Amino acid sequence: MILHKIGAACFSLVLLASCSKVTDTPTDTQNTTVPQTTSAAETSDATTASSAVSSAASTESGIQTDTPTNTEIDPDLFSNASDGADVTVSDGNIYEQKTINGQNYSLTIDLTKWEHNTNTEQIKILSQLFWQCYPRMYERFHDLSNPPTDVILAIENESYEVAEAYDNHIHLHDMWLRGNTEDFDCITHELAHIIQADWNDEYLEYSSYIERFADLCRYEYAMNDGFYNDANWTLQTIYEEDDRSESVRFLVWLDHVYSDANTDIIRNYFNVCRNMMFTSDQWDKAWEQIFAGTQLSGKTIDEVWDMFADSDFAYCSSYGNYGGTSELLGKYPVREKLKSLNR
Ligand SMILES: [Zn+2]
Repeated sequence: MILHKIGAACFSLVLLASCSKVTDTPTDTQNTTVPQTTSAAETSDATTASSAVSSAASTESGIQTDTPTNTEIDPDLFSNASDGADVTVSDGNIYEQKTINGQNYSLTIDLTKWEHNTNTEQIKILSQLFWQCYPRMYERFHDLSNPPTDVILAIENESYEVAEAYDNHIHLHDMWLRGNTEDFDCITHELAHIIQADWNDEYLEYSSYIERFADLCRYEYAMNDGFYNDANWTLQTIYEEDDRSESVRFLVWLDHVYSDANTDIIRNYFNVCRNMMFTSDQWDKAWEQIFAGTQLSGKTIDEVWDMFADSDFAYCSSYGNYGGTSELLGKYPVREKLKSLNR
């Protein structure tokens, strides 16, 4: 078992025979008033979902989570989850289908092991999140990894980890959103794992890149322009994440500053990571290929890191109040630029 730290969580990567399962387990709880650590050092002391949830504080108003209810699923609640999505409820599961830019997608919310700790309003928000985030990530990267278009989100009150992803399947522990009432974008992170479609860490400079990419997507594709995400989970500054093996912000900087209509440096990165082009000890060449065709062409990765360290992008706060704009996004409209490029 290889243990990874990811975002606000630490994860264990369980290698299976035919695919790898990426399991995400928080080492500490979300905090709605203090910017959350995004990338602590890799650690082997992953906690279980049940222990993490038991210490989680339910502090948010607006979403009622104190008392589990036996609310039955009302199809009408989900019919507006995405304009034009066909929604049916059968055997307690929710099936949603929609065609976006000619591509058919489906989301199955599997509630066979749901015990109503995640409330129906939260499930509706997760549904909306899927339709906002997944098709955009799919369109950007699908030709590089052939990810699925039919995704299953199972909300399960079982004793395993907070969240995990493998193949087209995401598990979310039924207790997680009860205790961390607005941590919806943990699912953006899991959806990014689905898009990755099983990166092989023998071909990554650092195995942590699996989690750094999922965190990059969590930031760039956060639901409702980060309305929930930025008040609960933020990019760390270079003081906390001081090398490229750990820094999510470095990837966000590369994308925002050096991608344009003609180049997508994160696609270059994704292609190298996904398609086993360079072994771990060949990454000087890998970075050459990632930078090729951009303004960074010809520079070494160490030179590029130093450029990042000299920029205020590395230091601005990315914490934002609900609906507000963080210092970082005020100076660098990361998500606006991404949308303007149809990514
Ligand atoms: Zn993960």
